[in-house]
Amino acid sequence: MKITILGTGTSQGVPVIACDCEVCLSPNSKDKRLRSSVMIQVDDLNLVIDTGPDFRQQMLREKVTKVDSILFTHHHKDHVAGMDDIRAFNHKWKRDMPIYCNQVTSDALKLEFPYIFSGFNYPGIPKVEINIIENKPFNIAETTIQPIEVLHYKLPVLGFRIKNFVYLTDVSKISVKEKEKMKGADLIILDALRKKAHLSHFNLEQALALLEELKPKQALLTHISHYMGLHDNVNDELPNHINLAYDGQVVTLNE
Ligand SMILES: [Zn+2]
Ligand SMILES: [Zn+2]
Ligand SMILES: [Zn+2]
Repeated sequence: MKITILGTGTSQGVPVIACDCEVCLSPNSKDKRLRSSVMIQVDDLNLVIDTGPDFRQQMLREKVTKVDSILFTHHHKDHVAGMDDIRAFNHKWKRDMPIYCNQVTSDALKLEFPYIFSGFNYPGIPKVEINIIENKPFNIAETTIQPIEVLHYKLPVLGFRIKNFVYLTDVSKISVKEKEKMKGADLIILDALRKKAHLSHFNLEQALALLEELKPKQALLTHISHYMGLHDNVNDELPNHINLAYDGQVVTLNE
């Protein structure tokens, strides 16, 4: 299984437009963060979780020629805004793009992209096939995916476990039952917005506390704001098996 981290930034990305803080001005490429997303190559499938505003740029940067399905965590703009660009894959592969999301996200996609769902088959519009998922395991081809339902302030959001990999972003609260699903993972990619507390995201301390409980072999932190600090400085403060993720990072896991 190969995990490619497409983006690691919070909703505004890093650098933030018009910001002159040291992180936004940093020349280190690891301090440049597109909106959070990840690609998973597993069992001959190429899966993408979330299509934020930078989806097009991320597909071009990683030279992606095929996406088999898209999974959505939730409907916030920084996770869905790029969905229109799946058109390229519709044209290339002559098929609708399968999407997996919960009912709330599906309802929001229909409001955000009314032209896709109007029923009028205007030439060139994105073509999607929505599969509503609940908080129970489902399959894409032969691959089983375990949703993990958490709260993002008050909004239920889905994380996903695929074999020994867990992706969980935009989370501020997780129940004991959902935590169980994350145990024994080789890699957890987890939300950690910044050092100060936040209403709808884990801060660094909360993310580290959860990882201490779950004890994955390796963990990477994502959905990072410019307030977190410089990539290299923050990494130096972290335990050996936990790092801030960076855009373009690739991790290969044995299944
Ligand atoms: Zn977000
Ligand atoms: Zn800044
Ligand atoms: Zn969000």
